[in-house]
Amino acid sequence: ALSIGIVGLPNVGKSTLFNALTKAQNAEAANYPFCTIEPNKATVAVPDARIDKLTEMAKPQKTISATVDFIDIAGLVRGASKGEGLGNQFLANIRECAAILEVVRCFDDENITHVDGAIDPIRDIETIETELLLADIQSAEKRYDRLSKMSKFDKEAKAASDELGRLLEHMNAGNPASTFEGKDNDLFKQAMREMGLITAKKVIYCANVDEANLDGTNDHVRRVRELAEQRGCDMVVICAKIEEELQGLSDEEQAEMLASYGIKESGLVSIIRTGYHTLGLASYFTVGEKEVRAWTIQQGWKAPACAGVIHTDFERGFIRAEVIGYDDYVKHGTEAACRSAGVLRVEGKEYVMKDGDVVHFLFNV
Ligand code: GDP
Repeated sequence: ALSIGIVGLPNVGKSTLFNALTKAQNAEAANYPFCTIEPNKATVAVPDARIDKLTEMAKPQKTISATVDFIDIAGLVRGASKGEGLGNQFLANIRECAAILEVVRCFDDENITHVDGAIDPIRDIETIETELLLADIQSAEKRYDRLSKMSKFDKEAKAASDELGRLLEHMNAGNPASTFEGKDNDLFKQAMREMGLITAKKVIYCANVDEANLDGTNDHVRRVRELAEQRGCDMVVICAKIEEELQGLSDEEQAEMLASYGIKESGLVSIIRTGYHTLGLASYFTVGEKEVRAWTIQQGWKAPACAGVIHTDFERGFIRAEVIGYDDYVKHGTEAACRSAGVLRVEGKEYVMKDGDVVHFLFNV
């Protein structure tokens, strides 16, 4: 499953946020028997008004939302890469993640010390990103040494190691791997995949504010927002403390509490939604009497790959897909009604699935 790693300096609210995510997971655990429970992972449902609507219409026995995994990746401190390094566990965990949520402290509280003194989220982001970059440089250097040994008698390896050398220059100048424009070289691309460089991943900034600053106008938040815009990154503003309190309340109580703070949706919901967006994900739906379910795909995937999310046999034996656009489905109410209205389309292997499609696959076993 696609996961988002939570990183940040000590005392910024990571555990508080992760606890809230874990509580949200546990509240719904019965719906996700297929998710393995691990101490540093929280699997949470992606809120989606469309699946609520489809459930209301089809009245299935159960409804299963799309999910996103959040991984708590502890252990990032300033200077980590100079000493022992970030730790193998840290690196292994973060390499698995598709995107990174960088939590920075934007709340003032005299009772909670900041590891670097004053509150300064931009400095925190620089500290985090420097450590991640140094870790990447180390792995790229190792790979470079290996490739350059091979390149003495292998032309392709020579081209790949030259490319890697350029990437190292780029990173040594302080730039993340994500902004490197590499040449088209298979061996280099393979090295990139295998290294799983952290700074090549998408980043979401998470400004943790206190109760009084949820409108997102405090100075710290404003600076983070500027940086996020400059870098083309997504950003969320949350109050981790409130998120933790919200979990465990009934829906009505939650709504009341949110209203009392003057906010429309919880920070958790906006993190999940933003994560889904940052990862370039989309959902299609299957609708039946037994189950209404959202399936997660990457935007741009063709029908057979989408079928493969349900079962690998569906992909291998794919024949065709019967597809109804979400709006058409809602307008006509049932698959049969859509069929007679002529809005059910038969699509083949080349069909690029659209977000919200209601789908029925036909396949050979
Ligand atoms: P971590 O070290 O990053 O995991 O930080 P914690 O989640 O343990 O939080 C550090 C301290 O900050 C704890 O005492 C939290 O209660 C407090 N804290 C976390 N989030 C907030 C917040 O939004 N507002 C305030 N005022 N305190 C918070």
